[in-house]
Amino acid sequence: MECLLTSGVGSACLRPGAGVGVSAQGQWRRAFFGSDREVKLRKCWSERRARRFATSASVVEYDVVIVGAGVIGVATAHHILTTTPLSVALVDAREPCAGATGAGQGYIWMTHRKPGTPGWHLAKRSKALWETFAMEVEDSGLNPTEALGWRKTGSLLVASTDEQAKYLQNWAQVLSEAGAATDFLTHLEAVNMEPALATGCLTAAALCHDDLQIDARLTIDTLLQRVRDFESRGRYKELFQSPVQHFIRSSREGRLIGVEIPEGKVFGKSAVVIATGAWSSLLMKTATTEWGMSLVPPMKPRKGHLLVIEGTHDIQLKSGIMECEYLSYNSQSSKSTEATTEPGPSIVMTATLDPNGNLLLGSYREFAGFNIDVQDEVIEKMVERAARFLPGVSNMEGRVRTGLRPYINDGRPMIGPVDDVPGLIFATGHEGSGLCLSLATAEMVTNIIQDVKGPVESAPFLPNGRLSSSTM
Ligand SMILES: Cc1cc2nc3c(=O)[nH]c(=O)nc-3n(C[C@H](O)[C@H](O)[C@H](O)COP(=O)(O)OP(=O)(O)OC[C@H]3O[C@@H](n4cnc5c(N)ncnc54)[C@H](O)[C@@H]3O)c2cc1C
Repeated sequence: MECLLTSGVGSACLRPGAGVGVSAQGQWRRAFFGSDREVKLRKCWSERRARRFATSASVVEYDVVIVGAGVIGVATAHHILTTTPLSVALVDAREPCAGATGAGQGYIWMTHRKPGTPGWHLAKRSKALWETFAMEVEDSGLNPTEALGWRKTGSLLVASTDEQAKYLQNWAQVLSEAGAATDFLTHLEAVNMEPALATGCLTAAALCHDDLQIDARLTIDTLLQRVRDFESRGRYKELFQSPVQHFIRSSREGRLIGVEIPEGKVFGKSAVVIATGAWSSLLMKTATTEWGMSLVPPMKPRKGHLLVIEGTHDIQLKSGIMECEYLSYNSQSSKSTEATTEPGPSIVMTATLDPNGNLLLGSYREFAGFNIDVQDEVIEKMVERAARFLPGVSNMEGRVRTGLRPYINDGRPMIGPVDDVPGLIFATGHEGSGLCLSLATAEMVTNIIQDVKGPVESAPFLPNGRLSSSTM
């Protein structure tokens, strides 16, 4: 969901596709946003929708069905098509970027991850794959900055207390020893490097040199253009605006062999991949009721707001910036294993500048069900928080994006097959790291389908033992 945000009063905000009106209050004005490019994309998707079943009497058969065209589903389709001979059908209830992916800020960072953990290894592999992908894009004649919003800026963790400064000094060493070259900076060195930062608030910083960023929407567009090359060879089909309503299992061995959408049946001979982000538990609840067993990921939607301040401002940033407190949020997330101890709402400042000079400000987290309405009070708190570090952001105009991060309480994405239902593969639960982790997730899923051992240990991400699997 994306809305305009200005400092006037009045107007309304519409949720694309849902037609739900939300009255605006307070200082911020919001209005439905739809750029020419988005309108063109929507038209193109509806033309595809009209064409897609024209050649086959409501039944299509591919090797792999991927449910969900967010970054995880699209990256997985891309990896399978470009590295194997398998064919892919990509199904989405709405369209690409309709979920969390469209709201993503785009940082591909190691700076806030704990070295040695499963998440660290997955992120490290994914970051390497992003670098390779950017080179492939360049080799194909495109400029990665234009095609992916690619910027290798490094990231700056900023401390605002003496205790945090001390922590960062040690953290810089820990990251460097783990292979993510990081320098500790005094507050003067940090402000010299980033003059937009407030001198009064900072106590120190840590610069992780090789961190990078992408633009989620541009990247999805580029990935989709590449997978569509396989359509004419009969290896790819996209089925958007098509919610999966039922699963199809073989009667003999109970293997998952396809899905039902309103227009017909889509068969996947080798696998059906669940990449439905925050909606994964909803989908699995509905579907598994029919099977007499429950295979539901312990998933909760975790709402986020992202502020996009258009390029007319005068804030220049060399690197991406993240408040040191994000580290404590991260460890809190992964320690919280009981639903009763889930973290409460939080606002921690993150700031990145995209290649067009737009300033992107995060980061807000809250459990609010599936509600994605823009909240004025959250925006005001986010601006206030960001202004502590970047005083120039007060009184600026821009847009707001909201999205639902797919949160699992053990802090690990769920990637892999399920013993009880052959053919079913999960690729979900990436919370605030799906953009970063998508390429390694796609590689892991492809390896699992092909029964090949991959470069990252998959055991910590397997669903078995993490699903509610009672027989009903
Ligand atoms: C504000 C914000 C900022 C973020 N910033 C970053 C960042 O800087 N870096 C980073 O790495 N991550 C970031 N994230 C997290 C990242 O965006 C998510 O982890 C990632 O987008 C999840 O991708 P996904 O493909 O799993 O889910 P989604 O993008 O939510 O896609 C799921 C798709 O499944 C479809 N679907 C659902 N149900 C069905 C059904 N029944 N049938 C068919 N299709 C269905 C939906 O329509 C949707 O398109 C951010 C998230 C938010 C909200």
